[in-house]
Amino acid sequence: MTIAYLNGEFQPLEETRISPLDRGFLFADGVYEVIPVYAGRLFRADAHLDRLERSLASIRIADPLGRTGWNTLLDGIIERNGGGHQAVYLQVTRGAAPREHGFPGSVAATVFAMTRILDGQPQILPINAVTRPDIRWTRCDIKSVALLPNVLMRQEAADASAAEAILIRDGLVTEGTASNVFVVQDDFVSTPPDSPHILGGITRELIKELMSSASIECRDEPVTETALRAAREIWVSSSTKEVTPVVRLDDKPVGEGVPGPLWERVHGLFQDYKQRLMRGDAN
Ligand code: PLP
Repeated sequence: MTIAYLNGEFQPLEETRISPLDRGFLFADGVYEVIPVYAGRLFRADAHLDRLERSLASIRIADPLGRTGWNTLLDGIIERNGGGHQAVYLQVTRGAAPREHGFPGSVAATVFAMTRILDGQPQILPINAVTRPDIRWTRCDIKSVALLPNVLMRQEAADASAAEAILIRDGLVTEGTASNVFVVQDDFVSTPPDSPHILGGITRELIKELMSSASIECRDEPVTETALRAAREIWVSSSTKEVTPVVRLDDKPVGEGVPGPLWERVHGLFQDYKQRLMRGDAN
């Protein structure tokens, strides 16, 4: 039985009820985070909570718990769900109020958390991807629960037997529907720079750190659609995908059509990092 959290109470997920007047339900007026847990240890909790605070501030919701409150919530939900490997989901909405677009007066934010208990560590398998025009708004740096474009584009990928859609805006790669993108060109790696057109991924930052420590050159620079199509390797990254190789793009092989040698190295660095995290030697 999964134990969830709603507004101060831990309770079974199946018994958790949210008002139909919640602005998350009516307007997607809220933000979220997903934080992996390996052997009971949180992956980059501070970076995730920093991003949650930035998302809340961007949509003008006062932080309902503060850093200590979030850490207590996280410890509580992980422990109540048995430690181990999990993916903790946090969501904050502007609360429940009569349906008016403008902000309601003094309404308490809704704070919800659940966790997905994983049997083992995520298995990283190569994927196919498609490209799609990026039809989203221009504040993709906010981790908003308004994910309808992402849902539609991910389904278009699934309809084409692909696991992810890589999005293109004005001839440049932005990101995946739920991931950041890396491309290997010649002997260096590129990833689109932070901007309002992408979500600054916590996993992407770690991958950049790991590459830097292994002297693998990674440039934060615009990636054209042409460079994407010519790439020797393409990877996508996220909390749940870690670093995943894309082996076919729009039904054509990427490089040799198998995970590339640089991906093998970076994946190895990521697994070493997780071992250190689980031993308590990294955060
Ligand atoms: N970009 C988008 C649109 C996402 O939804 C996600 C994660 O869900 C990411 C990038 C990767 O972010 P992170 O590595 O922090 O999970």
